[in-house]
Amino acid sequence: MPFPFKEVIERLKEFYMSDVPVVTRIANERHDPFLVLIGCLLSLRTKDETTDKAMERLMKRARTPRELLSIPTGEVERIIYPVGFYKVKSRLIKEISRTVIEKYHNIVPDTLDELLTIKGVGRKTANIVITEGFGLPGIAVDTHVHRISNRLGAVRTRTPDETERLLRDILPQEYWREYNPLLVTHGRRTCAPLSPWCSKCPVSHLCARVGVTRSR
Ligand code: SF4
Repeated sequence: MPFPFKEVIERLKEFYMSDVPVVTRIANERHDPFLVLIGCLLSLRTKDETTDKAMERLMKRARTPRELLSIPTGEVERIIYPVGFYKVKSRLIKEISRTVIEKYHNIVPDTLDELLTIKGVGRKTANIVITEGFGLPGIAVDTHVHRISNRLGAVRTRTPDETERLLRDILPQEYWREYNPLLVTHGRRTCAPLSPWCSKCPVSHLCARVGVTRSR
């Protein structure tokens, strides 16, 4: 029997309502793929509240690749601190800005292959830029999406990349864009890595709880 993606997505949407990850919010408010790309980079290994504040400070100072490139790296570090790996990310922000200007004529590319040529952009970030930045079909798979898809029994995979490829085959395309933000929120609020809150989970009746040995 095919996995009931439609019901899972509808229930998660209803349960979390406007509780969306920071990158989705940036996309909804700014409608700018470049800012989605930078927001996504800042959000890696960083809490949403911290990313949100760092992004606000950064956007007051610069919003375009040229503006960002003109800021000294040390100043970018001070602006985005305390996001995780702020020194590495400051250098990457400048490199990404330079690549977008020099290689892509100031316009963030909208294909997975081109995005993956930019230093510091992995599959997850590239898919988020495609889905959230451009509104094009793509499936961004991070650890939350990978873990929960496996727990639900929707896939049986070992790595996020494998999950992404399989989801491209089995998840109806109409759900590709919202699948990531919904599962990320679900992973943060309910389906925690070590001990998920199965007792208050809105999709518990649809979940196979694969690999779940401890829950609340
Ligand atoms: S029932 Fe438990 S394991 Fe399954 S999705 Fe819900 S919280 Fe996660």
